[in-house]
Amino acid sequence: MASITLEGLKKTYAGNVAAVKGVDLHIQDGEFVVLVGPSGCGKSTLLRMVAGLETITEGTLKIGERVVNQLEPAERDIAMVFQNYALYPHMTVYNNLAYGLKNRGFKKDDIDQRVRTAAKMLEIEDFLERKPRKLSGGQRQRVAMGRALVREPAAFLFDEPLSNLDAKLRVQMRVEIKQLQRRLKTTSLYVTHDQLEAMTLGDRLVVLNAGQIEQVGTPMEIYARP
Ligand code: ADP
Ligand code: ADP
Repeated sequence: MASITLEGLKKTYAGNVAAVKGVDLHIQDGEFVVLVGPSGCGKSTLLRMVAGLETITEGTLKIGERVVNQLEPAERDIAMVFQNYALYPHMTVYNNLAYGLKNRGFKKDDIDQRVRTAAKMLEIEDFLERKPRKLSGGQRQRVAMGRALVREPAAFLFDEPLSNLDAKLRVQMRVEIKQLQRRLKTTSLYVTHDQLEAMTLGDRLVVLNAGQIEQVGTPMEIYARP
């Protein structure tokens, strides 16, 4: 794992829309940071810049000590978990997990070991030969996380991964992500609208407002009202 450092990060979209207006943030190696704030405040833009899915208008982005502004998503050693699962419907769970590794030229034995380790951690070993449509929403979400996990990346990004799940599953997955985090100590940046998710998961919360950081603190510091 590695740290993530944002220095004066800015994004201005065409038409002069300033979505992110200079964000400084250091996420320590192994730290779980949750990004919260009202709709339109720039959370998604910020996350996508870190992922490399959106260009950076100004500022510096580092993974560990390495400046990655100019690198393609695949070269950044970061894995992103999406809310729409982003699973391949025609492939089995096994192949969904293996696909990215195959593309990156990993050897068959290494792929097999990584897939089985991730499947075991996420308790989806019994579904490896199934297609996504034969899985429940929660199982699909675990496969989506597995796709990120097999890469053993330097950091994880989560873009509202639980927002499509029903209330009961959301609670269950929240607990699972927390347990996973305790075990793996993954450096993570997690975007959510959900206050309970933010409070349960975050070592530290960052409140974004109109493209700028308004508040940073532990869940207690942010949400405890005297
Ligand atoms: P959030 O994720 O917090 O809802 P976004 O990052 O999606 O916020 O959006 C931040 C601001 O940038 C909003 O004003 C939004 O309308 C604008 N925006 C987002 N994506 C684009 C885009 N591709 N082109 C122009 N403006 C955009
Ligand atoms: P992986 O190697 O994680 O299995 P792919 O090789 O399918 O992913 O995708 C290549 C890149 O495209 C990845 O870096 C990932 O961040 C990005 N990507 C994958 N799925 C989506 C999606 N649904 N929307 C946007 N970007 C995506």
